[in-house]
Parts: sequence; C-alpha cells; structure tokens
Amino acid sequence: MSALRRYLPVFHDVHCASVLVVGAGAVGTRKIEALLAGGARVTVVAKEFSPTVEERAARGDLTALRGTFHPSQMEETELVFTATPDRALNRLVSAEARRRRIPVNVADAPEECTFLLPAVVRGDGFTAAISTGGKNPGAAKALREFLEEHRAEISVRLERGRRRKRIAAGPGKVHIVGAGPGDPDLLTIRALGLLRSADAVIYDYLVPAEILSLASGKAVKICCARRGGTAGHGAILKQNAIHEAMVRLAREGKSVVRLKSGDPLVFGRGGEEAEHLSREGIPFEIVPGITAAMGCAAAAVLPLTHRERSSSVTFVAGHETDEKGESAVDWNLLPKDGTLAIYMGVGRVAAIAEDLAGAGFSPDTPFAIVENGSRPEQRIVRGTLSGLSRISVESCVRSPAILFVGRTAASLPYENFEETSDEPVAQGV
Ligand code: SAH
Repeated sequence: MSALRRYLPVFHDVHCASVLVVGAGAVGTRKIEALLAGGARVTVVAKEFSPTVEERAARGDLTALRGTFHPSQMEETELVFTATPDRALNRLVSAEARRRRIPVNVADAPEECTFLLPAVVRGDGFTAAISTGGKNPGAAKALREFLEEHRAEISVRLERGRRRKRIAAGPGKVHIVGAGPGDPDLLTIRALGLLRSADAVIYDYLVPAEILSLASGKAVKICCARRGGTAGHGAILKQNAIHEAMVRLAREGKSVVRLKSGDPLVFGRGGEEAEHLSREGIPFEIVPGITAAMGCAAAAVLPLTHRERSSSVTFVAGHETDEKGESAVDWNLLPKDGTLAIYMGVGRVAAIAEDLAGAGFSPDTPFAIVENGSRPEQRIVRGTLSGLSRISVESCVRSPAILFVGRTAASLPYENFEETSDEPVAQGV
C-alpha cells in the first residue's frame, strides 16, 4: 500500500502496479494514457475501445478485454478505475472493488470512490496536484486553469526560491542593500535573499511596507525616519544613531541588512555608512538597487539617453544639506543636450526652475515629474520649463518625486511630441 500512496495522487511511478480500467471512452482513455505513462500494467474492459486504446492494444501496451465487466476480472488487480456512461455499472464495479478492498475511483461520482484523483498541472520543475475532496470541482478547475496560465511564472519563482536559499545574510556583517524605487518586484534576488535571512533590518522611511514585509518574521526592524528634511543637527544625530545601531548589532553577531530606497550609493549615504563600518572594522557588503532615476524613467517611458535627443544623463541633487548651503550644484555646468534627473527637488521646484532658466536652459525644454514611481499611487506630470515654477508643490506634487529635464522628458513622439504645452499635464498612470 505504501507504493500506492506514493503514486495515487499524480499517477507517478505506477511501476508494475496492476490496474483495471472499465470503460474506454474519452475519460477512460485519458486515465489509461496517464497510467501507462506512469508504468502501470493496464487491463481494459469495455464494449468499445477508442482508437487510441485500440492502437495501444494492438501494440501490446495493455490487455484489452472486449465485452462486459465481470468481477472475476479483478483478480490480481491493485487498483480499479471505472469511467463508463452507465451509472449502474459504475456502481457495481465500485461495490465489487470495495468488497475486495481494492482502491477504486469512479469518474464524476466522488461518493462511489475510495480515493480521488486530483487535477494535475505540470510545469518546468514542479508538479502541482489540486483536490477539493470532490466537494468543489468548479474551484479545482478554476485553480487548475490559473496554475496552467501561470506555469512559466511559477517556474521562475521556484527558481528564484532555489537561488534565494544560497543567498543568506552573514552573522556579524552589515549588508547595505538597495531596495529599488518601491515595487517589490524590482528588488534584486540578492536583496530578497538577504532580507529573508536577516536578524535585523534598519530601513529608511522611503522603503514601503510591502517590501519590509518580505523580511524574515524573526528580524528586528528599525525605522530611520528622515522625513521632513535632511538638513540640520537633528539629521546628523539620526545618521549617527544609524551608524551606532549597525555597529552594535553586527558586534552582537547579528546579520544586519541596512535597507535603503533605490541604490545605496546614489544620494543614499551608503558611502558614509560604508566608511564608518570600515573605520570600526565591521565587515560589510554593498548590494545595488534600481535607483529612482532608472525606475521612474522606465515608468514614464523616458529614455535617459537617446541617439537624437540625449547624449548624457546627470543625476543631480535638487536639495542639499545645510552645511553645503542651498544647492552645491553649478547649474551652468550641466549639459543642455542631455537628460537631468533631479532628486530631492520637490520642495524647491520654483527655485530649480529659476536656476535652470538662469543657467540658460530654454523655456521650451520639456520636463517630467514622476511621483511615487513604480508604486500603485504613481503619477506623472509633464510640461515645459516655462510652466515648471507654476506647479504648486503642496497641491500638485508630493515626495517622493523625481524631476526629469531634457528633450527626452517629453511624451513619446507618437503621443504629440510636437505639442507639449506650457501648462503642466498630469497623467494618472
Ligand atoms: N538612494 C535613492 C535616492 C534617495 S534620495 C535612489 O537611488 O533612488 C530620495 C529621493 O529619491 C526622493 O526625494 C526622490 O527624488 C527620489 N525617489 C526615491 N524613490 C522614488 C520614487 N519611488 N518615485 C520618485 N522619486 C523617488
């Protein structure tokens, strides 16, 4: 019986089992084919055989008994299937099998069965069996169809899972990890593996809860709130507290993930944190993430470089710390034939518009602001520089948002490239 238990659910490896199938219509034929594929020795009894079963019989793949069912045919049988249109006959076959304690399955009559067959979906690297115990065949069918439609995706996820196992956060080490712009699907496999195995996660406020929920349930989660500005003494204290927490947790032997939005080395203070860890002799590793410029450019179908419209892309800080003054950027030096990706600029949109005008950027240069890029609340606002200062920060654009400036920031040519207006155009995406 142990062998039976192994193969019953999915017809796998039915080696040498002797199986009687009553009925050789469409349903019977499907079962016969699956049993033969699993290595069973099949005897079929039916008044008429489907062409497939006829062929199989002629080749000697199975024993075909043409005629009516008789209980004596069950001698030596380990498993019985009945799939005839005659309900009374099915019931008789079931009763005879049960009397002999042979497991029996009756097509479309769960109450006559001593075992049920699940629906089976096979994909690359997996076999899934779905059963509702015969209680809800509609749900089983819907689930089977769903799994069939998502077969490829499931295989990819399994593969990711396999690789994840090989990626684990190390004890006494800090992993400075980029979380991407917000969509959990844009995490790297490495980031996911480290999150799942971390003892402690120190995360920035910009990292959404959905990503955080992927971290191991046992991990201590510490939020570093930097909302409300990076300037002033308070922000420095917070940064120092982050440094201390990383060092303390690593010295306790914990595997620490320092999770940052986007990429840790793009306006992310990843460099400062790495320097600190290095000074303290703490092993660390930096895991890149998709920076906001790239994630948001993809969301807005905005080519950062383009053979005709942009030969460079520059990542610019729209807002600096107090120690550096208003803006350390020399706007005059920024290339005018490329794409500017201005981070942290939402609070200074009007000032940035002035800076750009002062630096000689033409008023009809297109801009695009991507707010909450790659997240469900994503919004895109487009226009030209002459209209940029009119955007009211409070009512129109909220952090996090990135400002793109350059010819590439216009809508795609097939979306009225020539007709960009001075008025900002909000596009709900
Ligand atoms: N290290 C991050 C940047 C952190 S600075 C990275 O590589 O992306 C914070 C700024 O990043 C925000 O002010 C905003 O300009 C930008 N930003 C981060 N996530 C964003 C998102 N989902 N949509 C738009 N801008 C985003």
